[in-house]
Amino acid sequence: MDDKALDKVIVDSPGRINIIGEHTDYNMGYVLPTAIDKRIRFTLQRNNTDTQCEIRSKGYAKALVVDLKHISPSNTQWENYILGVLYEIYKRSKALKGFQCTIESDLPIGSGVSSSAALECGLAFGLNELFDLGLSKHEIVTLSRDAEHNYVGTQCGIMDQFASVMSKKDHVILLDCKSMRHTYVPFVIAPYKLVLLNSNVSHSLASSEYNTRRKECEEGVAILQKQYPYVASLRDANLKMIETCKTAMSPKVLDRCIYVVEENNRVLDAVEALKMGDLKTLGALMYQTHDGLRTLYEVSCRELDFLVDFSKNIMEVLGARVMGGGFGGCTINLVHEDTADAFIKSASEAYEKEFNIKLTSFEGHPSVGTTLL
Ligand code: ADP
Ligand code: MG
Repeated sequence: MDDKALDKVIVDSPGRINIIGEHTDYNMGYVLPTAIDKRIRFTLQRNNTDTQCEIRSKGYAKALVVDLKHISPSNTQWENYILGVLYEIYKRSKALKGFQCTIESDLPIGSGVSSSAALECGLAFGLNELFDLGLSKHEIVTLSRDAEHNYVGTQCGIMDQFASVMSKKDHVILLDCKSMRHTYVPFVIAPYKLVLLNSNVSHSLASSEYNTRRKECEEGVAILQKQYPYVASLRDANLKMIETCKTAMSPKVLDRCIYVVEENNRVLDAVEALKMGDLKTLGALMYQTHDGLRTLYEVSCRELDFLVDFSKNIMEVLGARVMGGGFGGCTINLVHEDTADAFIKSASEAYEKEFNIKLTSFEGHPSVGTTLL
């Protein structure tokens, strides 16, 4: 073991929220995420073998045992997040050796706060420290994204991994997913706060429809390119171009394109509103996003629409929308702090009455990204 190498590391890897900019990351647009103070904790230890690894996650009965020389996808989905990361790292560096890992989490799973990115990035970050692999934060972000593409099969964008690793306390990140340029915007919203309402539904459509949306956007780009060759992604398009090409598009592709272009503009408007302390405008933009996701992008569901509609009756809620890929998970709500508890209570009662499902809630506080303890 060289001087710099450690024997054991503990890493906290947070989930994330996104203020606005949904389904824009894989269209090379803007997003406005930050990490939250809920996380997955990894305890990683060398075991002095060359390639033997054992990973246990609390709540998952069977440990994953893997030989780095023989990594291949598993039929057990959670193992693929781990295997994907190990594959990507081992491809880059044979300084990775055998280790033991235990995982504990207080992140809701499959609820749109990206437990998946927290899982990938925390493991990559921890192994980088444990074996002094010399990976940059940017490499940790991109290899974790690649793991999700190649081993899990979700064609996600870069936002989740970026937010999990790069976030700063009390700030949100304005990330340009085309250039990867990012700026930290102070998140000052008192006396308002962010309340997440977890619908506790997770419709099975989520991952297949996600990949379908990506394809529909690509179809839109291919049509736009005939007229505007420099349009490499929907990020490069505007509403006028879409109007010009609309007869060549199916109604669904047209709706998807309009949503993405409008949503990109909303992110920049939201940042301006945030900088001006204009929370009414920020909230109105969040409601517009939900409308777009519901009617144009079609990734909402009855439960989420109910929660957002319910919030519209409460004056002290300035904005609400589905957060994450859709088809379940959480809504993110901009709520006055004096009303937050009453809002959660009344929403929970109404939701349970309507769907016979218990709502859970938590607050979203912009927090630091992946950290070595
Ligand atoms: P989200 O990222 O919004 O939470 P995903 O469906 O993308 O939802 O990812 C959830 C999946 O990530 C889980 O089904 C599981 O396979 C994996 N996962 C998340 N947290 C853990 C954990 N603590 N231990 C093992 N696997 C986990
Ligand atoms: Mg995920």
